[in-house]
Amino acid sequence: MQLTFQPLLLELRHPFRLATGMRTHTNAMLTEISLGAYTGFGEAAMPPYYGETHQSAAVFLGLAATRLQTYHQPLSGSLITAIMQEIDALAPGNHAAKASVDIALHDLWGKMESKPLWSLWGISPEKMPPTSFTLGLDSPEMTRRKLEEAGDFQILKIKLGSDDDRAVIRTVRELSDKPIYADANQGWRNREAALDLVCWLQEQQVQLIEQPFHKNDLESAAWLTERSPLPIFADESFQRLSELERIAGCFHGVNVKLMKCTGLAEARRTIAAAGAKGLQVMIGCMTETSCAIAAAAQIAPLCDFADLDGCWLISNNPYEMPALDRGIIQLNRQPGLGLRAKTA
Ligand code: MG
Repeated sequence: MQLTFQPLLLELRHPFRLATGMRTHTNAMLTEISLGAYTGFGEAAMPPYYGETHQSAAVFLGLAATRLQTYHQPLSGSLITAIMQEIDALAPGNHAAKASVDIALHDLWGKMESKPLWSLWGISPEKMPPTSFTLGLDSPEMTRRKLEEAGDFQILKIKLGSDDDRAVIRTVRELSDKPIYADANQGWRNREAALDLVCWLQEQQVQLIEQPFHKNDLESAAWLTERSPLPIFADESFQRLSELERIAGCFHGVNVKLMKCTGLAEARRTIAAAGAKGLQVMIGCMTETSCAIAAAAQIAPLCDFADLDGCWLISNNPYEMPALDRGIIQLNRQPGLGLRAKTA
């Protein structure tokens, strides 16, 4: 198999402001893996806080390309799992770069089988949860504009951890009564104040809270989880399957992202393991193209919640957007990821 890759700078439609900082771009790497007449597409989306760069991804993918050259046989799900164990062992970290290999391998497999991935896995597209649409921290005026852009989406994801989170929610509530997922992005500091706020958020029809405290402050997370009337989800506190045991008792649920957990093979195992521990599962994303979104969408029907709006937040997506019906991503019957390059 031949692996090639090229860097892409994803341009955000609006500067993205979180409790942890602001940015206008996300580094991405687009991958292709070819075998015979078939080519699978993959992607690494690398927000700065996880430490991967175009350079680190190029170095890692160079190693992966050499390893993949030794494979010539048709793919299967179990062969991909075995290949990904080898790829994972090439170097620590590099989770998004690893995901870009995993996604391309899966797309290639589906194309060789002439089947969509969801059908190869026996997944029911009708179980697809609605996707939320994310609004970063912003002025009331910009929040108004972004709410208009949220048009078809039926759930809003609001970034909190600001100086005045109640004001952020009040601004949204003056304009929209859609259900809200609230993401504090590690921005809350005080347990009692957090619990007061969560109780107030429940009255505002907020459905769940993501990552209230610093990622390493599991004690505070467990304290809040024990008392909170709303489910508390781990995002930054939880990267991949090997960490599930450590955080399981501290949250009601986990946010699984392909870019954190090295791709679809591990994500599927993670979703099953989280379910077995009684944890709810959200499938999330970074700002990324339709490629990684289409990949996550294949397994989203296995999850309780979906936050797969990444390709709606960028302005230079090289692929067609996923089909959306009242905020629910529609899986198509095209092989693999069902991804199409944009026609001019
Ligand atoms: Mg989050």
